[in-house]
Amino acid sequence: METTIAARVKVIQIPPALPSLDDLLFEAMAVEREADRIAKARKRLAKESPDLSEKERAKLRAEIAHWELVNSWDALQFVYVEEEDCCVHCQEVSSHFIGLYEFQQNRLDKTLRRFVLTPTQSLEPSQSTSALPRSMYTYQREIPACPRCAFFAGFSLKYEGEVKP
Ligand SMILES: [Zn+2]
Repeated sequence: METTIAARVKVIQIPPALPSLDDLLFEAMAVEREADRIAKARKRLAKESPDLSEKERAKLRAEIAHWELVNSWDALQFVYVEEEDCCVHCQEVSSHFIGLYEFQQNRLDKTLRRFVLTPTQSLEPSQSTSALPRSMYTYQREIPACPRCAFFAGFSLKYEGEVKP
């Protein structure tokens, strides 16, 4: 029986803030370097290089298997993620946009699932998201006070003196 995406992904943490473009670029370059390293490891194994001991072969095979586990993901959904903040003081609920994510499942271990931020953050279909079903995912968070409670507790919108940002 098909369950809703929200039921399936409850335990998965979503990053609270969007990464910068520099972070995304740095990550992409690191992924590329790692892919190169694994491609070289595959070639060394395939050549049956006589300089490789059985221990070194086992190490290369383990590195390749680990890389495949970490990098073999299928996109299942294109997901609009929002967060609902529930004020513990007055129970007022407000929601805000967190990001557009691909919800992915590991190809080798189908119990592993994750959200990956889409680089464009656009509702327009991209090469990777156009064929995916779309869904919305909301997660809840308790906050100690909403703006209204803060206002009634004496927090002013006017900044004065030294505390002016
Ligand atoms: Zn409140």
